[in-house]
Amino acid sequence: MISKKMAQEINAQINREFFSAFLYLAMANDAIEKGFLGTGKWMSIQFKEEQEHALKFSKYLQDQGAKVELAAMEAPRTEWKDILDMFKDALLHEKKVTAWINDLNSLAIAEKDYATQSMLKWFIDEQVEEEAQCNEAISALTLVGSSAGSLYMVDRHIGKRGE
Ligand code: FE
Ligand code: CA
Repeated sequence: MISKKMAQEINAQINREFFSAFLYLAMANDAIEKGFLGTGKWMSIQFKEEQEHALKFSKYLQDQGAKVELAAMEAPRTEWKDILDMFKDALLHEKKVTAWINDLNSLAIAEKDYATQSMLKWFIDEQVEEEAQCNEAISALTLVGSSAGSLYMVDRHIGKRGE
């Protein structure tokens, strides 16, 4: 059994994971509308991943006998200057998510809640990957600058990301 406070904080995180999904879907749409199909694909895969994160937290609450409380989400931004700006924004967002996951873990430690600490380990590792993937795209896009031909090549490379 987890504490009421912990259940409340995990529910808040479920909302943030769904918001992340919504944000990546908005990024996918904007990229596709601008012809950056590789980035559109990357963002669509991330859209699915974020829903899996939300469901992973939901299952944990249910396994612990706590109620999943879905709540209204903010509308995401829907347009970015270019795909570099988009990945920079994704990185900023992932850094916020990392801080939230860390806060959850600090609470679990304070409450001597070992089960939640164990569950969060997966998310702590996942956040390292999430930030690294954004950084990789930012480095490649920064390197090639704004020449259309190079941007096209990098976008195609970004689209080769596996599911
Ligand atoms: Fe996530
Ligand atoms: Ca991931």
